[in-house]
Amino acid sequence: MQLYSTNNPDNIVDLKEAVLKSLPEDRGLYMPTHIPKLSPEFFDRIEEYSFADIAYNVAITLIGDYISKDNIRGIIDRAINFPAPVKMHNDSIGTLELFHGPSLAFKDFGARFMAELISHFIKGEEKDITILVATSGDTGGAVAAGFYNTPGIEVIILYPKGKVSDLQEKQLTTLGKNITALEIDGTFDDCQAIVKQAFLDPELTKKYNLSSANSINIARLIPQTFYYFEAYKQVKKYGKKVVFSVPSGNFGNLTAGLLTKKMGLPIDHFIAATNINKIVPDYLETGVYKPKPSIPTISNAMDVGAPSNFTRLLALYDNDYTALKADVSGFYLNDDEDKMVMKDIYNLYGYVADPHGAIGYAAIKHFQKLNPDHIGVYLETAHPAKFLDIVNDVLPRPVDVPDRLQALVGKEKVAHSLPLEFEATKEWLINR
Ligand SMILES: *Cc1c(COP(=O)(O)O)cnc(C)c1O
Repeated sequence: MQLYSTNNPDNIVDLKEAVLKSLPEDRGLYMPTHIPKLSPEFFDRIEEYSFADIAYNVAITLIGDYISKDNIRGIIDRAINFPAPVKMHNDSIGTLELFHGPSLAFKDFGARFMAELISHFIKGEEKDITILVATSGDTGGAVAAGFYNTPGIEVIILYPKGKVSDLQEKQLTTLGKNITALEIDGTFDDCQAIVKQAFLDPELTKKYNLSSANSINIARLIPQTFYYFEAYKQVKKYGKKVVFSVPSGNFGNLTAGLLTKKMGLPIDHFIAATNINKIVPDYLETGVYKPKPSIPTISNAMDVGAPSNFTRLLALYDNDYTALKADVSGFYLNDDEDKMVMKDIYNLYGYVADPHGAIGYAAIKHFQKLNPDHIGVYLETAHPAKFLDIVNDVLPRPVDVPDRLQALVGKEKVAHSLPLEFEATKEWLINR
């Protein structure tokens, strides 16, 4: 796999450089120069493959020219070792549960694969890698768990003070060792801006071998393609056209989904489902892209006002708005509507959806009004227990809390509080 910068098609690097650098100096994003397709036989026989075998085949297709088959097999077996089941509510709608990994969010796929890939690339190198990562809630926990105790890698997580749930905060502030948390007095967008600026700061890049684990890193995108294939495998037997609804914030997940369509996965349509931070639904409606400051909501992992993968979405479609719009619809809900939908899902199917997945569900129902022939799959991007206060407030009975979350409750948070300014984070990094 070779990658180009979306700001300069002549700036071409190999996978290792793209993964370790995260961002090209010209501030574009890395995208594959060529998108390979899987064979028709693979799709014909996909039911015969396990999830790990699907992931292996997709990975070989994408990066097999660059990493040996044995190494890919090892990376997949260690990183993609939990399931991605589709739970059907009825014959026309189901949910793809992506929360069966260690931090109970879909970001475990990206974080674990990325940790494996970076370990593979830095074998034998002297200088340690420092991963700087901004989180709106779930990235931090996934990255902390994914990189915990990995030799040669330290992780510094920036998160917006008071804007992540208690359990999300515990996931990133209680591990210690090579994981450090910085609590920034600002929004997620501010944290993301600080990370981006750090990468361009000569003093910081001199002191640190910086890399990013945000979805600007192509290593996160690759494994996020795997579960679309796995979900397709599970709904293929219905013999209907398939629409995926993707609860979205920075749009890494949706970009990965669209990449699978370009790789030949027979998906008819995608829906970009958001909360009132509806920058991309607005873009799809009007053709005008207008980033805005993010607004806090109950689906906090989607509180993004300047989605970092928007450029990639466009690049996949050669900046052709009409072509993108043909494959992707926008949809959004406000918090009150979101809560009502969570109740509906519970009352209709006895299923507890989290505030992000619930918007995905509503998007499918809306789409099916005009397209009743489609089977719809909405992504449950996190376990509902990660949003305990909201879910328990909305539903009639308390949600079951998985052991690995419950274990965090009594643990003490350790984080360094910093003001909003970039200089404060920079100084902290220089002086530590
Ligand atoms: C991160 C996250 C999202 C948004 O994913 P993107 O790839 O940034 O669009 C949605 N839901 C949950 C629960 C998340 O953690």
